[in-house]
Amino acid sequence: KVKNMEKKVILITGASSGMGYEAAKELAGQGNKVYGAARRVEKMASLKEYGVTPLHLDVTDESSCKETVEEIVQREGRLDVLINNAGYGSYGAIEDVDLTEAKRQFDVNLFGMAALTKAALPYMRAQHSGTIINISSMGGRIVSFMGGWYHATKYAVEAFSDALRMETKQFGINVVLIEPGGIKTNWGHIAADHLAESAKGGAYEETANRVSAGMHKQYSGNMMSDPKVVTRAISRAVNARRPRPR
Ligand code: NDP
Repeated sequence: KVKNMEKKVILITGASSGMGYEAAKELAGQGNKVYGAARRVEKMASLKEYGVTPLHLDVTDESSCKETVEEIVQREGRLDVLINNAGYGSYGAIEDVDLTEAKRQFDVNLFGMAALTKAALPYMRAQHSGTIINISSMGGRIVSFMGGWYHATKYAVEAFSDALRMETKQFGINVVLIEPGGIKTNWGHIAADHLAESAKGGAYEETANRVSAGMHKQYSGNMMSDPKVVTRAISRAVNARRPRPR
C-alpha cells in the first residue's frame, strides 16, 4: 500500500489542452513528477506553476517519442507511468475523408501511442514495474454517425491495449484502458470542423453540415461531462496496485 502511494515519474501526452492538461495538473498536485508533452508548448506554460515540466512532442515523430522517454529516464532514473492521451477526431463520411488524413489520424491516435509504449517498455521491464494508461473512448466500442475513421483508430487502441496487457503482466506492468464518454473539451469542435470541411461541395454536404452544427452545439452546452471525470479515473489508475512480476 505504501509503495502505491510513492511519488511517481509520469509522462502524459496531449497535456496542452482538455483532459491531458487537467490530469497533468492534478497528478503534479499529488506530488508526482509530471512531464507534459504536446506540440503547443506555449499552452503548457501555465502548468509550470503546478510543477509540471512541459516538453515539446509531436507523437507522430517516432524518434522524438524515443528521445522524450530517454530524456525523462536520464533525468529521473525511471519512468513509472506513461499516459497516452494525445488524440483527435477527424470526422467525415468515409468516402469524403482523404486517406492521407485518415492515416494521419492513425499516426496520432494509434502509432503515437505505440511509439511511446515501445520506447518505455524496456525501462519498465528493467524496473519490474510500470503503468501504461491509454485513453480510448466510448467510441472505441460503439460508432457514431460520420465518425468512421475516428472510431477505427479507437477500436484499434482497444485491441492494442488488451493485447499489450496480456504481454506485459509478467513483467509487473499494468495496462489500463480508459473509455471516456462525451467530455467538454476542444475535441468536439475539432471533429465537427473536420466534418464540415471534408464534405464541402460533395454528396454528403447537407447531412454533414447538420451533424457538424449539432456537435458544436453539444460541445458548447451543458450536456458534456467535465474533464475532471476522466482526471479522477486517470488518478485512480496511476495509484492502482500493479501486477506482481513473475
Ligand atoms: P483536446 O483537443 O482538448 O486535446 C487533445 C490533445 O492532443 C492536445 O493537447 C493536443 O496537443 C494533443 N495532440 C493532438 N495531436 C497531437 C500530435 N500529433 N502530437 C502530440 N500531441 C497531439 O481533446 P481531449 O482532451 O478531449 O482529448 C484527449 C483524448 O481523449 C483524445 O485521445 C480523445 O480522442 C479522447 N476522447 C475525447 C472525448 C471527448 O468527448 N472530449 C471522448 C472520448 C475520448 P497539441 O495540439 O498541442 O499537440
